[in-house]
Amino acid sequence: MVELYGKQNGNDFNLECSSEKIRIAYFSMEIGLEECIPTYSGGLGILAGDTIKSFADLSVPAAGVTLLSENGYFHQKIDEDGNQIELPVQFPVSKFLTILPARTSVNIEDREVKIRAWLYQHKSLNNFIVPVFFLDTNIEENSEYDREITKYLYGGDKKYRLAQEIVLGIGGVRMLKELGYDIIDKYHMNEGHAALGALELYSQLKDIEKVRGRCVFTTHTPVAAGHDQFDLSFARSMIGDILPESILQDITHDNRLNMTKLALFFSHYVNGVAKKHSEISRTMFPGYTIDSITNGIHITSWASNPFRELFDRNMSGWRTDPFILRAAFSMHKEEIWEAHMTAKKKLVNFVNMTCNAGMNTEDFTIGFARRQTEYKRPELLISDPDRLACIAEKAGPVQIIYAGKAHPNNHGGKESIKRIYEAMRTICGNVSITFIPNYDIEIAKIMVSGVDLWLNTPRRPMEASGTSGMKAACNGVPQFSTLDGWWLEGCIEDITGWSIGPRSMEEQDVSDDDVDRNDLYDKLERIIMPKFYSDRDNWIRMMRSCIAINGSFFNTNRMVQQYVLNAYFK
Ligand SMILES: *Cc1c(COP(=O)(O)O)cnc(C)c1O
Repeated sequence: MVELYGKQNGNDFNLECSSEKIRIAYFSMEIGLEECIPTYSGGLGILAGDTIKSFADLSVPAAGVTLLSENGYFHQKIDEDGNQIELPVQFPVSKFLTILPARTSVNIEDREVKIRAWLYQHKSLNNFIVPVFFLDTNIEENSEYDREITKYLYGGDKKYRLAQEIVLGIGGVRMLKELGYDIIDKYHMNEGHAALGALELYSQLKDIEKVRGRCVFTTHTPVAAGHDQFDLSFARSMIGDILPESILQDITHDNRLNMTKLALFFSHYVNGVAKKHSEISRTMFPGYTIDSITNGIHITSWASNPFRELFDRNMSGWRTDPFILRAAFSMHKEEIWEAHMTAKKKLVNFVNMTCNAGMNTEDFTIGFARRQTEYKRPELLISDPDRLACIAEKAGPVQIIYAGKAHPNNHGGKESIKRIYEAMRTICGNVSITFIPNYDIEIAKIMVSGVDLWLNTPRRPMEASGTSGMKAACNGVPQFSTLDGWWLEGCIEDITGWSIGPRSMEEQDVSDDDVDRNDLYDKLERIIMPKFYSDRDNWIRMMRSCIAINGSFFNTNRMVQQYVLNAYFK
């Protein structure tokens, strides 16, 4: 249905002569590269995959390191009552990845756990290859328990999670060495999951400053509870003597090993993923210098076919240099609308075929899709169905398309899905609602390009960055969102989209559901829908601004350039 992006490119990557070429090792618990490799759960993994692709576009000598997660995250089914059913997935690993002969091992609870690696090669348009190594403990010599360590992404208990982090961090650093990459300039930890890698480097280099010279850390979580931590005595029993007594004070909190503190302690460069998020991180971790590099998306992966063709005709070179997209201001409005309608038809066909949604291509269509979690407030839009129906009566019909998985242990997220299903059944008048099950990269591509408006309603200041609105922007789809994460930087009111709720944190530092709901409905009724239905010319002008202003900037090519200049080779 959707063109596969980044297919395997044969075996032209020569491991033997590449050892000098890799200067950056990018560690991430999840990396989402393409729809057939389900080793991601959400934004963090997609960001990692997009980063790998931009490394390749820009010929940055980098490699990715992640876990195999051979059972993926899970396949989401939803029954008639809106209950999420989690089905296992098994992706045909050897179809997409190549097994490598190298072996290494780590100690977990005094057992030797053997690790092997699978290779994926991402090749850019200019034929630059960035390898990604997927670590795998499913080896005969390992015990039953150990064979499962790299099976489930974010599955299991604390012990399972720590075992995974040992494999990713310590095992990852050792595996790179085993593969012949001895001199790596920078180890980039994408979130704290790989922080134990710094301990392995410390045991190799025996010098805190030397380790610091090599480590870069990106934090993604603006809430304390989101940071991984483990009881110290438990951590000791799992990790063993690689945990040095001399620095315990710096890397623990309340007698717990804190992965964020560990990564902060050993990194010479630390950043948050949007300006606001970096501010919050600085107050959470006083005493550290925390810079800011705002996230992006890999434009050539996320622009839909009709927009890629449109850009090719109008702005050649945009694929490797997305800054060129600022010239979108000179594109013809008719062509933009035509490309949008092609993408919208594809989405409408998709929801009609798979969900029997009965939608059409003329009506105003709103999209909301992301991990279903409480702070993102998925039901804010439908929380007053009467008001919504009333708006649709006055301003014109509304179609709403939802998608998103709830983590298997997230009760609140599952309840949200049920309430959306409830609304699907009960909403009346001019409003129709549908929910596409099993949100993944493929569905995301169809949704972000096919809707007319992209909605996001995070409770401030919980959204570190958010990226799906950036995917919408490069398809000319304006965003309507609370001012949190990247939207504080990307929202130019009435030009790239609209804000929900108060403008500044001074006015109100946490979100109030009632205030936000009111503003959301108010703007839909008075500003957004009238513009869509009665002022199409200006609506398309906005679409153009989204591409020119936000598409040209909120991409991973710009982001990787900032990492190279500010973090890796400063
Ligand atoms: C982009 C993306 C996300 C992240 O979306 P946010 O709005 O940043 O939360 C999650 N899942 C998939 C499949 C995506 O493509």
